[in-house]
Amino acid sequence: MSAGVRLAALLIMGLALPPASAATPMDVHRDAIVVDLHVDTLLDLAAGRRSLDGAAPGGHIDLPRLRRGGVDVQVFAAFVHPREAAVGRRRLRELIAAFHRAVERHPAEIVAAGSVQEIEAAGRAGKIAAVLAVENGGDAIEGDVEQVDRLSRAGVRMMSLTWNQANLAADGALESRHGGLTPLGRRVVERMQTLGIVIDVSHLSPQAFWEVLAASRGPLVATHSNADAVQSHRRNLSDAQLRALAARGGVVGVNFYPPFLGAATLERVVAHIDHMVKVMGVDHVALGSDFDGITQVPQGLEDVSRLPNLTAALLARGYRPEEVQKILGGNALRVFRQVWGR
Ligand SMILES: [Zn+2]
Repeated sequence: MSAGVRLAALLIMGLALPPASAATPMDVHRDAIVVDLHVDTLLDLAAGRRSLDGAAPGGHIDLPRLRRGGVDVQVFAAFVHPREAAVGRRRLRELIAAFHRAVERHPAEIVAAGSVQEIEAAGRAGKIAAVLAVENGGDAIEGDVEQVDRLSRAGVRMMSLTWNQANLAADGALESRHGGLTPLGRRVVERMQTLGIVIDVSHLSPQAFWEVLAASRGPLVATHSNADAVQSHRRNLSDAQLRALAARGGVVGVNFYPPFLGAATLERVVAHIDHMVKVMGVDHVALGSDFDGITQVPQGLEDVSRLPNLTAALLARGYRPEEVQKILGGNALRVFRQVWGR
């Protein structure tokens, strides 16, 4: 067998020789642009319970732990709870103000970013890029589609339509009537696409998911959802949904919440990633920890500082460094670039 054929055979078997100086998991993690697509830290920040400096105990996210976790881009979701629907716009303003206040208090360490250019500039300056998102947009806009323009001007770069129940825009994953997208929801989707706001399909009912897909073009993101084939749960996505997101060039951020995983272990996170990679391909899997929005955490991923453990586990599982780096953030950044256009 020729050298070329032999090398090809070795590559197929996954036995190619490691490079002369094999990178450690920490090297691979550090070299990656790490993007977390979903955390609920703004709830604590807005309530004054904690701050990004990490002085108050508890929670999963603050600047010292983001640093140790090697996070380059943190998406902060402004989550309007359905019980706040009647005052959704006011509540959203509070959460967005908390975002800007928290970021502006630490100008040397973190900066708000609304484009990939700004994310890259933050990286060059050694700062974490903070991206603003909205969770449960239907309640956050109180039925007024013009609010979407205001949110865009306030720096919102990604938005989901619902939480678990129905609202004026669509039905959520736990809504028993299993409805889809409303006429208002359709107009919100249209407006988001015009403005280049990433559409987040996490929390949607299956019917609403398919209707959002049909009403939109280009990549969609499920920021914090897992694979139903690995752990059956109404918040998880079927293989058909995963495949549809991949076909559109989108990504799914794996969620660290044990009930969605099936058990509170790092191995289960890897199991969901494995399945998503099998169904969608390695270009469509990302991270959406749900930190600071979850009351239980996997062993080994107790807070954001432990993220390098996931890199080590994926490498140990046989993923190549460049594949791990796609999952850690390369894929998410690709979608941002495509939807935001800069
Ligand atoms: Zn959520």
